[in-house]
Amino acid sequence: MVEIELQLAPGMIDSHVHLSEIQRKGGDARALITACFEAGLNSALDIGISTADFEHRRERARQLPQVQLATGLHPAVSAQAELDLLLDALKRQLHDPEVVALGETGLDRFRMYAPMERQRYLFDRQLRWAGDHDLPVVIHNRDADADILAALEEASPARSRGIMHCFSSGRRFAEEVLARGFHVSFAGNLTYKKADELRDAARVVPGDRLLVETDAPYLAPQPRRGRTNHPGLIGYTYAALAELRGVPQQYLIEQVQENYRALLRL
Ligand SMILES: [Zn+2]
Ligand SMILES: [Zn+2]
Repeated sequence: MVEIELQLAPGMIDSHVHLSEIQRKGGDARALITACFEAGLNSALDIGISTADFEHRRERARQLPQVQLATGLHPAVSAQAELDLLLDALKRQLHDPEVVALGETGLDRFRMYAPMERQRYLFDRQLRWAGDHDLPVVIHNRDADADILAALEEASPARSRGIMHCFSSGRRFAEEVLARGFHVSFAGNLTYKKADELRDAARVVPGDRLLVETDAPYLAPQPRRGRTNHPGLIGYTYAALAELRGVPQQYLIEQVQENYRALLRL
């Protein structure tokens, strides 16, 4: 295997990784995540995009005790013809005891995979089911702050439990989702040069609502931007977040561990 860079300190957690996408890009996901765990990575939440590869993902998660499993329908699948078939499959998967979160789901106006109505059709059902199954929901949001808030308001006007993943909005939206009970997860884009608004938001998130993720194989942090991302690069994002919050990295590592365990009820 090609040597991989491991920017890891013991205890770090990756709250959002797509192991199957790493595999599809030609990596050996199992060997890679195992190397990360050996180098100190504590846990990783393996996120679903579609229901199609669930059995395979579930089997891998069962064999790797430090991998937790989420399943859900990403807005990227909203262009597919048979949304109800996908939803039926998801409904069955949510009963699986291995599943600790519903995700990812959400809305995307940047790629606009399908008209917003279709995206909402998928998203609204998943929001409701996350509530029914008492699972935290992992939300994908690209340029859709207002749509997300409207959907949350309709689905559960009070509080929700979940993660705003790869948070990319500003302080105001952070305050809105925090008030609704969400955790906020920061990814490699926190390290990008133009991300001042995002860094501003990262300063106001309370310590007990913070998470860190790679969203690998996407969004490699600044020094590796443009390359294939993997959980071994998460140290760059931890370092950036600790610095801008003015806390020691070890303190951040412990905060994130506590938050992750509490949210996923591990
Ligand atoms: Zn996403
Ligand atoms: Zn993702």
